[in-house]
Amino acid sequence: MRYISTRGQAPALGFEDVLLTGLASDGGLYVPESLPHFSLEEIRSWRGLSYADLAFNVMYPFVEEAIPEDDFREMLKETYGVFAHKAVAPLVQLDTNEWVMELFRGPTLAFKDFALQLLGRLLDYVLEKRKQHVVIMGATSGDTGSAAIEGCRRCEHVDIFILHPYQRVSEVQRRQMTTVPGENIHNIAVKGNFDDCQRMVKESFGDQSFLGGKTQLAAVNSINWARIMAQIVYYFQASLSLGGPDRSMAFSVPTGNFGDIFAGYLAKKMGLPISQLVIATNKNDILHRFMSGNKYEQHQLEHTLSPSMDIMVSSNFERLLFDLHGRDGAAVKELLENASKGPVSIEDYRWKSARKLFDSDAVDDKTTCDTIREVFDQNEYLLDPHTAIGVRAARNCRRDASVPMITLGTAHPAKFPDAVAESGVSVKPELPVHMADLFEREERYTVLDNDLSEVQGFISKHWKNA
Ligand SMILES: *Cc1c(COP(=O)(O)O)cnc(C)c1O
Repeated sequence: MRYISTRGQAPALGFEDVLLTGLASDGGLYVPESLPHFSLEEIRSWRGLSYADLAFNVMYPFVEEAIPEDDFREMLKETYGVFAHKAVAPLVQLDTNEWVMELFRGPTLAFKDFALQLLGRLLDYVLEKRKQHVVIMGATSGDTGSAAIEGCRRCEHVDIFILHPYQRVSEVQRRQMTTVPGENIHNIAVKGNFDDCQRMVKESFGDQSFLGGKTQLAAVNSINWARIMAQIVYYFQASLSLGGPDRSMAFSVPTGNFGDIFAGYLAKKMGLPISQLVIATNKNDILHRFMSGNKYEQHQLEHTLSPSMDIMVSSNFERLLFDLHGRDGAAVKELLENASKGPVSIEDYRWKSARKLFDSDAVDDKTTCDTIREVFDQNEYLLDPHTAIGVRAARNCRRDASVPMITLGTAHPAKFPDAVAESGVSVKPELPVHMADLFEREERYTVLDNDLSEVQGFISKHWKNA
């Protein structure tokens, strides 16, 4: 499998290099040159497989040149063996034909564990083979950081530096990052917002001279292809549990950077019958504005009760735009260069082809709270604010009641107790047993100014062989 850039100019790479590279040298994102395609018969034959075995079938075509079959199987067993639920991604029914897939049973209680537990193992595997070291530099609005740190805590060939916006992540989120012991783990609180953090990471990837050529950066944000790859699996898992592939499914996906939902789009292209994908956003609704009016335009960042979706631009959307433009990298490059200066649109027929599959909704904080309360009243089931946005959007956008509607449950409600309290629900979400002592653990982090050279200076001084 070869991987190509969405901007058409960077060299094509194999899996190992894509894993280590992050952003392509032309500023684009890597995507597979072609996707594997599974027949209905083949997908049907996967019914009843464990999550790890299903994950092997879905992902192996993407990695087969880099990793022998047995090693990959073993890696997947370990990865999904750390989840606190035997089904790994259990489904909970909300109503007739309406479901939540709980993707928060991993070590850090958000869906990002699915990809980042695997990514850490993939990186260490490849680096061991190559006798190399990398510095992971990532930005987080909360959940990516803790999942990445958990995923890399046992990596021997990786130092990890995670930038989070100072005082803008929940206390549970911060503690999940800052209480993990390990010499290779470094938390930086930047006096700025998430987009400031993300911009510093992007710029550092563009010019890595601050590392003095002694190591290189690797990405763990959702531009890393391996993360998208790992997220394709649970769409298959949900479908197979509910009668797929002999009936099609609809999914509603709380989204910010368009990573998780892009994986659903790929699942469909790989042969899984999916008839609708609902893009569920909060007030940071650039994707909703594009889907409803064919206008892609940055607005000011809004801080919401669903901070993991607080973004201005949606980085993985570039991967969909690449397909919508017939994989013409030059066209994508031009479009996105224009988009950084002002609003852009795409040709009407391209936009309409996206609308065949995607619907969208933007849900404000009040409606998020109303939905948490509504579902609690109906089911005595507590949603986190991100999942609540997914459920609201699913209910608003549903096209066909006979098609199962599955909302991706992206976080455990105990990660966002303030939003739950604000909804007026009378119960407090409890942390799962394996995290019950989180508030007693010791924290370690460094506060830095919103200044690129200060952050780069810190990293160049603190990695393992600095
Ligand atoms: C990261 C995250 C999202 C958004 O995921 P994208 O891949 O950016 O679309 C939604 N909900 C939660 C809880 C998250 O942590």
